[in-house]
Amino acid sequence: MQEFSIIEQYFKNQTQPRRDVLIGVGDDCAITAIPPNHVLATTTDTLVSGVHFLPDTAPADIAQKALAVNLSDLAAVGATPAWINLALTLPSTNEEWLADFSDAFARMCEYYGVNLIGGDTTRGPLSITLTAQGFVPAESVATRSGAQPGDYIYVTGTLGDAGAGLAVLKGELSGAEHAVQYAVARHLNPTPRVLAGTSLRRKITSCIDISDGLIGDLKHILTASSVGAVVRVEDLPLSPAMTELVSLEHAYELALGAGDDYELLFTINEAHLDEVLTELHSVSIAVTCIGQITGQKGLELKLHNQAYLTQTHSYQHEIPLDE
Ligand code: ADP
Ligand code: MG
Repeated sequence: MQEFSIIEQYFKNQTQPRRDVLIGVGDDCAITAIPPNHVLATTTDTLVSGVHFLPDTAPADIAQKALAVNLSDLAAVGATPAWINLALTLPSTNEEWLADFSDAFARMCEYYGVNLIGGDTTRGPLSITLTAQGFVPAESVATRSGAQPGDYIYVTGTLGDAGAGLAVLKGELSGAEHAVQYAVARHLNPTPRVLAGTSLRRKITSCIDISDGLIGDLKHILTASSVGAVVRVEDLPLSPAMTELVSLEHAYELALGAGDDYELLFTINEAHLDEVLTELHSVSIAVTCIGQITGQKGLELKLHNQAYLTQTHSYQHEIPLDE
């Protein structure tokens, strides 16, 4: 099968066309229109077989994860997702693989109302590179750099589930079937917090998506904003599945250090707290306050008001920031 027939069969006209896509798959460039007074948000992530997903991962799961990690980045800046480019490197033309991959890809694009508008198809070791684009009102971009001392630190959803799921897939963790299934699903099919991102923009002081673990990603906000933070470990949101699968101490470690949850971490000024929480409640998005921003640099972890020693960062409870 030639490149052009792969594109024709699997990647052209996948979904309902958006009206802002003037030219999609098939020409030299895609041509799209951005709404007035909005700015364009663009992000790229590559998933390489054996590096970002286990080599035996089902094509539908790879498609969903590739989309999720990119939509998650758009959510973190508050952008409404719109367009996707897909650069696909395939070791061979496996039509069953392509059908499963493109079906799942199209279904998820349809769900989030985004269009695949272009890409590239080449031969080589399996790798998927997506570029996702969206738009956001110019004055409402949520960045990493706006956190202020006194702001409350919130996260969406629950933390550590994807890390537990990965441990299950690697044969390092087992337990009750429903809990195992939940954790594995959170690892394979993370939910990008698109609605949370667009609901929060404008009213929060900073935002990031948790892809590398809570500590690592919170540190990005602290560094960019030149502030510190206190996090109360007992307040980290844990799913029922997590607490069934591992000890509380192990759950805290996963919640602090394991990546791939794709929840949003954001900071809110006290003056906007009620408004933000009411809005999130009205769209059924669960969030949890896990601590507060401080003027003193560094990240302090506390468990019931005592310094908490985490294994995640070489037994330091005061975690210095990268300068
Ligand atoms: P060119 O040689 O001009 O770069 P290609 O032959 O690579 O064009 O691609 C033809 C068209 O198909 C282009 O519009 C390109 O964006 C699109 N395309 C190629 N591969 C993919 C893919 N995997 N998914 C979506 N669109 C693709
Ligand atoms: Mg090309």
